[in-house]
Amino acid sequence: MVNGYAPKTLQEALEIRAHEKVIPYAGGTDLMVQNPKNAIYLFLNKIDELKEIKDDGEYIRIGAGVTFTQAIASDLVPQLMKEAVSRIAAPAIRNAGTFGGNLGNSSDKADSVLVEFAMDGCVRLVSVNGERVIPVEEFFIKRRENNLRDDELIAEILLPKAKCSMPYYYKKVGGRNALAISRIAFAGTYLVKDGVIEDISAAVIGGAAKFQRFKDIEKMLIGKTVGELKANIDEYVKLYSEKYIFTRGRVSAEYRRTVCMNLTKDFLNTII
Ligand SMILES: Cc1cc2nc3c(=O)[nH]c(=O)nc-3n(C[C@H](O)[C@H](O)[C@H](O)COP(=O)(O)OP(=O)(O)OC[C@H]3O[C@@H](n4cnc5c(N)ncnc54)[C@H](O)[C@@H]3O)c2cc1C
Repeated sequence: MVNGYAPKTLQEALEIRAHEKVIPYAGGTDLMVQNPKNAIYLFLNKIDELKEIKDDGEYIRIGAGVTFTQAIASDLVPQLMKEAVSRIAAPAIRNAGTFGGNLGNSSDKADSVLVEFAMDGCVRLVSVNGERVIPVEEFFIKRRENNLRDDELIAEILLPKAKCSMPYYYKKVGGRNALAISRIAFAGTYLVKDGVIEDISAAVIGGAAKFQRFKDIEKMLIGKTVGELKANIDEYVKLYSEKYIFTRGRVSAEYRRTVCMNLTKDFLNTII
C-alpha cells in the first residue's frame, strides 16, 4: 500500500511540503528502485505548472516535471541537452524520468545534470516562503548530497540562452552502447569569433563524487586564438590532466583517466 498526497497545483504541494515529512515523487524511476521504508510520498505528476518548457528571452526554463521524452520532442530544449537525455536508459524510463528527479536524486552519473554544469545552468527552488534561484553547481554538493531544504521543491532548471545556441561537444561512454549508466561522459560548449575563443566551458562525469569543471583553465583559454590553442594543445590537455580526479568504480581509475584525457583532447581539437 503506497501512502501519499497527489496535489493538482504547486501551491497545494508546497503547503503539504511545509507541514508534513513527505518525499517528493516525480517519475519514480529512482524511488521505485530505492523503495524507502514507510515513505509518505508527495506525488508531483498531476501538477501541470511543473511540466512546462519556456523561453523567457534570457533562459530556456525546463519544468522539474518535464520528462526526457518531452524534452527530446521540444523545439526549445538545446541540442546538447537533447543528445544527453536521449542516451538515458530505454524509452520506458525516458517517458517517466524527469529533470527534477535527475537533479533531486543527486547522482554523480546524472546525465542531464552534467549538461547543466557545462552550461552554467541554474535551478529555481520554491517553498511557501518564496523562491531562490541558484547555480546548479551550488545546489549539487556531491553524490547524494544537495542543497534542497525540507520545505522546498525543485520548480525549474534554467539554461542560459547564450550557451544554448553555441556549438557543442558531447560523448557518453558506458559499458555498452545503449541502456548504460555513464562511466565517463563529457559535455562542452564553445564560441569562436574571428579565430578567437570567446567562450568555452566543459564538464565531466568521471567517477569523482562531483561533476568536474575547471573554470580557471577555461579563463586561460578565453581570448586565445585557435592557432595558439593548436600550437599548445598538449599543454592544455596536461593542465586538465593534473586537475581531474578519478576513483575506482566498476572500472579502474586508470581506464577513466585514459578515456577522459582522450575526450578532452578531442573536444579541444573540435574547436580548432
Ligand atoms: C533502469 C534505469 C536506468 C537508468 N539510466 C539512467 C541513465 O542512463 N542516466 C541517468 O542520468 N539516470 C538514469 N537512471 C536514473 C533515473 O531514471 C533518473 O535519475 C531520473 O531522472 C529520475 O527522475 P524521476 O522523475 O523518475 O525521479 P524520482 O524517482 O521520482 O525522484 C528522484 C529523487 O528526486 C527527488 N525529486 C523528484 N522531483 C523533485 C522535485 N520537483 N523537487 C524536489 N525533489 C524532487 C525525489 O524526492 C527523489 O529523491 C536510470 C534509472 C533506471 C531505473
